[in-house]
Amino acid sequence: MPTYEFLCTKCDKSFEIVSSISQFEQKQREGIQCPTCGSPEVKRQISSFQVKTAKKS
Ligand SMILES: [Zn+2]
Repeated sequence: MPTYEFLCTKCDKSFEIVSSISQFEQKQREGIQCPTCGSPEVKRQISSFQVKTAKKS
């Protein structure tokens, strides 16, 4: 299932929603809320791939 990343603009916490595309569209219609503070002011984060930075200490 796809993972959708969001950032709450109110409390500045990021969270993920894992759901199917049709379920996610339904959620978007109903309104997505921050699970931390309950604010509906959330921004979609687009993370196409995860960047791994190789740090050598
Ligand atoms: Zn929040």
